[in-house]
Amino acid sequence: MQNIFNKFFYPRSLCIVGASSKPGSLGYELTKCVKDYGFTGKLLLVNPKAEEILGYKCYPTLSEVNDEIDLAIIMVPKQFAEGTIADLVKKKVQAIILVTAGFKETGKDGEDAEKRIIKLIKNSDARLVGPNCMGIISTLPEVKMNATFVAEKPECGKTAFCSQSGAIGAAVLNSLRETDIRFSHFISIGNKADVSENDLLEYWQQDVNTEVLTFYLESFNDGESFIKYFIEDKISKPVVIVKGGRTSSGIKAASSHTGALGSSDKVVDAVMNQFGIIRADDLNDLFNIAKGFENFPLPKGNRVVVITNAGGPAILTVDTLDKNGLVLAELSEETKLKLREIVHPEGSVNNPVDLLPGGSADQFKKVNKIVALDKNVDAIISVFVEPIMVKAFPVIEGINEIDLSKPIFQVVMPLPEFWNEYRKNSKSGKPLFRNPEDPAVVISGMLKFKNRPVKVKRLQPSKSKLNIAGDRKSKFLSHEEVKTLSEEYHLPVIETHVLRFNELETGEFQFPVVLKAVGEKIVHKSEMNAVILNIRNKDELLQKADKMIKNFGKQNIKLNSFLIQPFIRSKFELIVGGFRDPGFGPMIMFGTGGKYVEYIQDSIMYSAYLSDEDIEKMINSTKIGKILQGVRGEASVDLTKIKGAIKSVAQMMLDNTEINECDINPLIVTDENEILAVDIRIKC
Ligand code: ADP
Ligand code: MG
Repeated sequence: MQNIFNKFFYPRSLCIVGASSKPGSLGYELTKCVKDYGFTGKLLLVNPKAEEILGYKCYPTLSEVNDEIDLAIIMVPKQFAEGTIADLVKKKVQAIILVTAGFKETGKDGEDAEKRIIKLIKNSDARLVGPNCMGIISTLPEVKMNATFVAEKPECGKTAFCSQSGAIGAAVLNSLRETDIRFSHFISIGNKADVSENDLLEYWQQDVNTEVLTFYLESFNDGESFIKYFIEDKISKPVVIVKGGRTSSGIKAASSHTGALGSSDKVVDAVMNQFGIIRADDLNDLFNIAKGFENFPLPKGNRVVVITNAGGPAILTVDTLDKNGLVLAELSEETKLKLREIVHPEGSVNNPVDLLPGGSADQFKKVNKIVALDKNVDAIISVFVEPIMVKAFPVIEGINEIDLSKPIFQVVMPLPEFWNEYRKNSKSGKPLFRNPEDPAVVISGMLKFKNRPVKVKRLQPSKSKLNIAGDRKSKFLSHEEVKTLSEEYHLPVIETHVLRFNELETGEFQFPVVLKAVGEKIVHKSEMNAVILNIRNKDELLQKADKMIKNFGKQNIKLNSFLIQPFIRSKFELIVGGFRDPGFGPMIMFGTGGKYVEYIQDSIMYSAYLSDEDIEKMINSTKIGKILQGVRGEASVDLTKIKGAIKSVAQMMLDNTEINECDINPLIVTDENEILAVDIRIKC
């Protein structure tokens, strides 16, 4: 079967429902854009009030259109949108874009109308983009369709761009003549009532004209499905995303430590990092990274040389390296000797290589070539600020001519005339960068893709092991249930006795012990004086237990029973936790634990679809992880057990979708290198 999205991006006929003859109206401007850009397919216009628009015949109603419609774009007033969609579906049109706004984004009535539209679509073979979007562009010569109302003529490239926001989409299109961004496809998806980023991810992965996938998103429709494309190795092209809404207003209310630490933006960061999806901070970075993939070979590693004719910009470039995980390459002696023959005696042959303002086109080219041959170098950033005595164009073009397997990213800060000259006369037209800070971000993005996990074995969900009756949503599991689950997943739980007060009197204990109170309302125990450590004998135990009963009695809090555990000497307290993110599904956390976990802020979050390498990385990216491996002459802690605990919690979160939160805090590491969970909380 033909992919339905081919009808969106390679239509042989386009029907504009709500085309208009009134200049300035969206219906007119969009029609004009389609015409001016030179759409190669058949253009069909529908509007009851016009017979002809811009030289095209106009049909009064859809039913009068006899030609087959590949793609329909709807711009009618919102009260006619539903009817139009019903008509299109009846005509068996499969690709529909609803540009019209006034739906979910406007409140209850709009939301209801949108739901009715989705129902129409779901009951048909059609797919719908929008509503509340600004159209679609396909730049391929065999299509040439600009079905938006931005009258630009985008050049054909290999980057596909999807924007959730229409305004951002328009802003990008408005900037094309200045930014030299080139597209294969552009699409604005608005309210994402049906088609979402997930569909485009899947489509562009297999589209032969697209090499780089870029997105501006404000939300993920179904984050867990999105990351599954990566987990299942279905995506082999670079994916770069700007995700708006970095502030943490969306932090979900949660009662456990893990939940409280996890804000939605941190989750986005975490999963993108884990699965090799590139997150750009802004649109400038997004398109620079895309240009990097499209036009330069992948750097093999992170060793960078900066070549410059001016100190200041080079300093700014060097400052960005470290932030992006890059290092200044150490040039070989041989390279330096060769450079010495070319570089001005007062210039520098160390990295950054400084040719001084007199550095000519010939010198720039030779120096770039020599440096690129050094085996200690993975990438070059050549920075040129146009001085009075050297023209920019020959310098830039000379370096463009170097044909190498290593990328050379050129930053150019020229007089304004340069840009037109470059666009007109450059043979390769390779992208240039305007800010000294730009290339480091590009290199780091490209390396992220190069080093992404491919074909790794990951934990996968299997059968639920939780056996609970009734609706337990938002409730904690009982001590017994936690115990059973912990055994199922081989969590290293400390020996724990659950006893009533009178059983304390008769029980035999190996002192010292810890006494903890259990009750439905007793959650954060130490805050409520419900944990007493280091109890040395029976008398003390009874006395402390009695005091707890009285205390809770006074506060009208029910104390169900007591827990008795051996008192162990902890060397380190860790936290291993899990929570279910509403978008991305089960997440896992590891870090420094104990009572002060929120204040210490030494934790890392990953999706529970963990690989062994992920677990390794989780441990290594926390401070406590480094300490565990031995600092100040100490021996390393047995990491296998810690890794095992992380794996178990992840598996438990994957298997048991009823569980929303889980905390092991602390997982204690003793002086004897024993690893014991002394407090486990699990909530549905
Ligand atoms: P909560 O987190 O509800 O306050 P915990 O059971 O985690 O209660 O106990 C609080 C703190 O007491 C732990 O962070 C740990 O430092 C200490 N602790 C708890 N159980 C033991 C134990 N069996 N041995 C030694 N210390 C313990
Ligand atoms: Mg605790």
